[in-house]
Amino acid sequence: MASITVRNLRKEYDQGTVVAVEGLDLNIQDGEFITVVGPSGCGKTTTLRMLAGLEPATEGTIHIGDEDVTDLHAKNRDVAMVFQNYALYPHKTVFENMEFGLRMSTDLSPEERRDRVREAAEMMGIENLLGDKPDQLSGGQKQRVALGRCIVREPGVFLFDEPLSNLDAKLRTTMRTEIQRLQEELGVTSIYVTHDQEEAMTMGDRIVILNDGELQQVGQPKEVYENP
Ligand code: ADP
Ligand code: ADP
Repeated sequence: MASITVRNLRKEYDQGTVVAVEGLDLNIQDGEFITVVGPSGCGKTTTLRMLAGLEPATEGTIHIGDEDVTDLHAKNRDVAMVFQNYALYPHKTVFENMEFGLRMSTDLSPEERRDRVREAAEMMGIENLLGDKPDQLSGGQKQRVALGRCIVREPGVFLFDEPLSNLDAKLRTTMRTEIQRLQEELGVTSIYVTHDQEEAMTMGDRIVILNDGELQQVGQPKEVYENP
């Protein structure tokens, strides 16, 4: 079960000369799909990285379920993140890329890890790519591997940082459907950053609008659309 509670979250860079996120409060329910929109530089990526544990918060707290994860390392959090540039290890095969996170964050046996990777690969339709290296893959295939790498960890929370922005329009539509299918099949809680308003409106159960590091609005697409 993975609700997310964010209280008074703040992030400063460069000794406080840059305030990337300020006074952020969020209550996200278990299984919700939240989209986050706002202009470039408004703090979307910084917020995700703090949720992932890839960036420490300057102030505030983050709970996932009942657990205070504010000071927990990324690998000990019940989250997995999909990056815009896929962030695959170029010298590892698809199998190794997917297995790596499991090695780092679980004590599963090699057989158990292999089974999990196979299962996730099947779910993403990439069984036939497991021996390939990332530079042999198309953009869409890389994004499938990046999703598969998240699935193997069986996290309660998926974090997406503009995952489709490097894909062409047709592939974006396909992958959007795939992400929605995963959301339904896995019942995870998802936070999805995008600069695409239409994507935010159609994919999100609720939309969070950030502006200049602060929460400007949060609500269902209809509410946000009717009261801009
Ligand atoms: P978004 O994802 O909405 O484009 P970011 O979270 O990347 O916004 O950035 C928010 C603000 O923090 C911006 O002003 C950006 O320049 C600044 N920022 C982000 N990362 C760093 C960093 N590592 N060092 C200094 N400033 C940063
Ligand atoms: P380091 O901790 O050596 O600085 P990184 O900054 O690359 O390494 O990553 C920090 C942590 O984030 C690592 O322990 C890694 O397990 C974890 N991590 C890497 N990719 C993801 C991901 N997609 N989702 C969640 N955690 C990740």
